[in-house]
Amino acid sequence: MYPWQTTQWHYFCQQKTQQRLPHAIVLTGVDGLGKRALADQMVALVLCEQIDATEACGQCHSCQLFTAGNHPDHILIEPEETGKQIKIEQIRRLKDKQALTSTVSKWKTVIISPADNMNINANNSLLKLLEEPQKNTLLILVSSKPYRLPITILSRCQKLSLTSPEATVCVEWCLQQGGFDKATIEQILPTAKGAPLKVLELLEIDTLAIIQQLDIDFKTLLQGRANPVSLAKEWQKYDLIMVFNHLQLLIKKQIMLSENRSNATGSKRYWTLYDCIIATIKLISSSNNINKILLIEQFMVSAMKQDANFNTALNR
Ligand SMILES: [Zn+2]
Repeated sequence: MYPWQTTQWHYFCQQKTQQRLPHAIVLTGVDGLGKRALADQMVALVLCEQIDATEACGQCHSCQLFTAGNHPDHILIEPEETGKQIKIEQIRRLKDKQALTSTVSKWKTVIISPADNMNINANNSLLKLLEEPQKNTLLILVSSKPYRLPITILSRCQKLSLTSPEATVCVEWCLQQGGFDKATIEQILPTAKGAPLKVLELLEIDTLAIIQQLDIDFKTLLQGRANPVSLAKEWQKYDLIMVFNHLQLLIKKQIMLSENRSNATGSKRYWTLYDCIIATIKLISSSNNINKILLIEQFMVSAMKQDANFNTALNR
């Protein structure tokens, strides 16, 4: 278990000890907090044959089956391909299996991850399952975008949220993993939203270099000197959520600077740009089938429409 998960873990253990585990949990938090790992640990504990264990023993038949990925009473539902939707057929298979009695453990468990990747039909099918919960079943929906889940599903789940640890804790933990120095970790921290695993993931793909390039590109764009078509081709190679989260941070900084200098015109322009960025992030988050290049081009064109006077203000 990661050090920033202890509160949620203890809460879960307490519920188990008191025999008041919910039928369904939605486990939320930004990417990079180890939600899946925690969900696995929760399931392993519930399935473990040691009744009073406060963590899975790792020794019993059930624990061995779970570690090997072969536990007959556990079902993992993921998109068949990364980034694709979870289909209704997958939820139907889950329903069929839920109708059978458990074989090894006293419990039956399910993890759906990422749960916000279910299509409408899959959501509806899952809802029916949630409406008729069976005894001794635990379903964990893992999601970094719970706002994409229907309220009808959310209202039937207990919410367990992971949050990013304090910056110092995050930096310290990342340092312990080795590979990167303190200054590098601190630089990427805001882009990773303070999530330690995300920090490492971003640093491993050399995101700092990408960010530096983005800063240059964005400045050129606001000066009206960029070609949105060729620039969009470059940007579409990157993780768009990362790109626009970074631009959001950049503009936030400029808004604060303008407001400190009581520069109302500057501040207003940045707010308009900020709204453009938020709208783009919403579009990216709401669909799996976006035309990336078109979306970036549209954003760039509306950003360029902003007054070209940005150039002086954007010098950092
Ligand atoms: Zn065990």
